[in-house]
Amino acid sequence: MPFSTLGLSDPLLRAIADAGYTTPSPIQSQAIPAVLKGHDVLAAAQTGTGKTAGFTLPILHRLSQKSYSTNRPVRVLILTPTRELAAQIGESVSKYGAHLHPRLKSEVVFGGVKINPQMMRLRGGVDILVATPGRLLDLVNQNAVKLNNVETLILDEADRMLDMGFIRDIRKIIALLPKKRQNLLFSATFSEDIRKLTTGLLVNPVKIEVAPRNTASELVEQVAYLVNKAQKTEVLCHLIKQNNWQQVLVFTTTKHGANRLTEKLNKVDIKAAAIHGNKSQGARTSALTGFKAGEIRVLVATDVAARGIDINLLPHVVNFELPRAAEDYVHRIGRTGRAGEEGQAISLVSHDEYNALRLVEKLIKKEIKREQIAGFEASAVAPPVPAEPPRGPRPSRKPNQARKPGANQAARNKLKTANA
Ligand code: AMP
Repeated sequence: MPFSTLGLSDPLLRAIADAGYTTPSPIQSQAIPAVLKGHDVLAAAQTGTGKTAGFTLPILHRLSQKSYSTNRPVRVLILTPTRELAAQIGESVSKYGAHLHPRLKSEVVFGGVKINPQMMRLRGGVDILVATPGRLLDLVNQNAVKLNNVETLILDEADRMLDMGFIRDIRKIIALLPKKRQNLLFSATFSEDIRKLTTGLLVNPVKIEVAPRNTASELVEQVAYLVNKAQKTEVLCHLIKQNNWQQVLVFTTTKHGANRLTEKLNKVDIKAAAIHGNKSQGARTSALTGFKAGEIRVLVATDVAARGIDINLLPHVVNFELPRAAEDYVHRIGRTGRAGEEGQAISLVSHDEYNALRLVEKLIKKEIKREQIAGFEASAVAPPVPAEPPRGPRPSRKPNQARKPGANQAARNKLKTANA
């Protein structure tokens, strides 16, 4: 079925052609007509399914068909969990709306950056606002934006927003919206909390469910390399160099682990940058831009930070550690094999992760092939973990006393090797 049968206007069809899309993805062919008709929608879909265009295109269509008042109150509000996702949705809105006349105004607001420039940008009014919940409430409290004209509310990655503790903010925001409005909710998973949220929110929603792209996709080759924990960094360097990978996304479970790995890669001249919640927005953006431009070879990310990273045709994703939640494995490998291209998802699995690997296989209902790398084979049993340095009570330091340079360095080095 071509896009032209879905009921979208010509300027939007031109933007779709510009983007190079020929056929709607399953979520798009179901969501676009439902949203155009003004229905509420409950969609089970994750990143990689084309869901962003699935809600952005019909929203742009509806807005552009109506006249607007000159003070341009927010008519469409899109809530998302992370800054990256917010920024990407903002880009999609601009991209798909490029040929509309008159142009619709959109803004993206998120926390972690100064609020004043955002307040200035909202002054002239905007038709579409993409926001993370906390910052939006701050802006409302400072009278920088009003939400009493919102016609459509979109909750994107609702499960993530709840995971990140945004439920109270979301409820506060919903209370500020007009009662009569269209609601669209997108979520990869449906916990009890999501169900509770949808019950009060959605009215006779059209329910849409699409297969997570990569669990069904044969385009992603999945392999687990069995290795010893202490050798993971070495193995990663070996794989990157041996295969001459130029663009690799590597997942770690902790921010600290991401920093440590990034440092080690840079030390052996593999240009790497980390992207996680403790990094400033500027640092995240420059890491992502550098990675997309090919200046940074390895982007090391934690799960939350990686949500919403949209990089087309990413050839290699490496799980340096398996995720704590098996579902995150699916999100992670969803970064490769996109838009019909083949991709490779590699997991470095140490002895303590064998169970996690089995849980992932149970979730994706597929066996992941296990391989050994010559020269880095996993030993039959887990090698003993070097003893941790003694953790006695910290020697008390007077408040203004400087830390002795090199203090405890030996102990830290030892710990580093143990945790490498
Ligand atoms: P999303 O699930 O919204 O994050 O989209 C995933 C990726 O698919 C993005 O890079 C989009 O640009 C791309 N995409 C969206 N719709 C289509 C389509 N109909 N055909 C090809 N690629 C698409």
